[in-house]
Amino acid sequence: MQKPIYLDYNATTPVDPEVFQAMEPFFVEQFGNASSSSHSYGWEANHAVKKARSQVADLLNCDPKEIVWTSGATESNNMAIMGLVRQYAGEKPHIITENSEHKAVLEVFEMAEELGIADATFLPVDELGRVSQSEVADSMKSSTKLVSIMMANNEIGTLQPIAEIAEFLKDHDCLFHTDAAQAAGKVEIDLQKLPVDMLSISGHKMYGPKGIGALYIRKSNPATRLLPIIRGGAQENGLRPGTLNVPGIVGLGAACELCSKKMSEENSRLKGLRDKLIKNILEACPEAKLNGHPTERLPNNASFSFENLSSDVFALGLSGLALSSGSACTSSDGKPSHVISALGRPDAEAKATIRVGLGRLTTEQDIETTSTKIIQMVEKNRAISSN
Ligand SMILES: *Cc1c(COP(=O)(O)O)cnc(C)c1O
Repeated sequence: MQKPIYLDYNATTPVDPEVFQAMEPFFVEQFGNASSSSHSYGWEANHAVKKARSQVADLLNCDPKEIVWTSGATESNNMAIMGLVRQYAGEKPHIITENSEHKAVLEVFEMAEELGIADATFLPVDELGRVSQSEVADSMKSSTKLVSIMMANNEIGTLQPIAEIAEFLKDHDCLFHTDAAQAAGKVEIDLQKLPVDMLSISGHKMYGPKGIGALYIRKSNPATRLLPIIRGGAQENGLRPGTLNVPGIVGLGAACELCSKKMSEENSRLKGLRDKLIKNILEACPEAKLNGHPTERLPNNASFSFENLSSDVFALGLSGLALSSGSACTSSDGKPSHVISALGRPDAEAKATIRVGLGRLTTEQDIETTSTKIIQMVEKNRAISSN
C-alpha cells in the first residue's frame, strides 16, 4: 500500500536524519547525567548540553544563558504564564492574550482565572486572524503584567504583528511572551532587535524530536523574573527542575543549527509550492476561501474553508492525503476549530476546513497531486448538490 502524502508539518515534522545522527550516541554510550560533576560521563553530557544551548541561542540571536530547557512549547507556555502570575501572587495581575492562540496558552489563561490568581482578557482577531497593536494598547490596565501573543498561528499560518506590539510594550512595566512554536526555524527571529521578554519553541515543529522544547527568558534590559511552577531540583537554576533530556536537547540544538543553515532557501522553495497550491485551489473552486492572511503567513501553511461542502464528500475526498481537516489540532472532538470560528466563519465552514502543512520533504509532484484531489472533491460535491 502506498503511504499517504504527508502534509501535516504544522502538526509535527519528521526528525531530520542529521538530527537523529547527532542524538544517537547520547542514548546508549554517552548516557551520563548532565548534573554529574564528578566523572567524565557527566562532563560529556554537560558539554553536549552546553553546545546545544549555543545552537539554540544562535538561531534566536540571544545569550545561551537565556535558554531554559522544557518538555516542549506547551510546558514553555505554562512556565512563562504561570511563572509570571506566581511572581505577582496576591496582586491578581491582569494578563492579555487573543482568541486564536494555541490551547497551550488559552487554557493556561483560563486556569489562572479559575484559580482566582489573575484577571484575563482575550482579545478578538480580525477576519485574517490578526490582533492589532492598538487593541492591545486599549486593553492595558495599570495592573497588566503580561501580554502573550503568538508569533505564527498553527492552524491558519497568520503572522501576528509581534514587532509592533513588542515595541509598544517596551515602555510599560509589563512582560511580553510569544509562542513561537510554529515560527522558529521558519521566520527570522533576532532577539537583539525584537524586544520580547519570553519566547517558546518546540523541537518537533522544526525537524527535532518530540518532548523537548525551550523557553527564552530575557536576562537584561530588563531582566525577566519568573518563579518555578514545578519543584524538585536545582537544574536550570531551579527554574525547571528534573534530569535534563540530553538526547532531546542535543536533537533540538542540531535542529536549530540546521534551520539556521537551510531557512532562507527552504522558505523560498516552500513559498513557491504554497502559492502554487493556493492559486490552483482558488482558481478552480469559487467555493473555497483561503484562511489567514494572504501574505503575512507562514511559508509552509495553506488553510482553506469550503462553502456548502457535504461532510460525506469531505470525509472521502481526501484519502491519500495526510492532512488536518475540521478543527486541525483537535479534530477528534467534532467541534469546529476555535481558530476558524474566531475569524467569523460559520460553523459549517469551520468544519469544512483543511490545513495543508508543507515541509522539507514536500515535492512539486506532491502539490500537483494534492491540488488535483482537492479540486476533484469540490467538483464531486458540486455535481451532487446540483442534482
Ligand atoms: C505545537 C504547538 C504547541 C505545543 O508544542 P508541544 O511541543 O507539542 O508541547 C504550542 N503552540 C503552538 C503554536 C504549536 O504549534
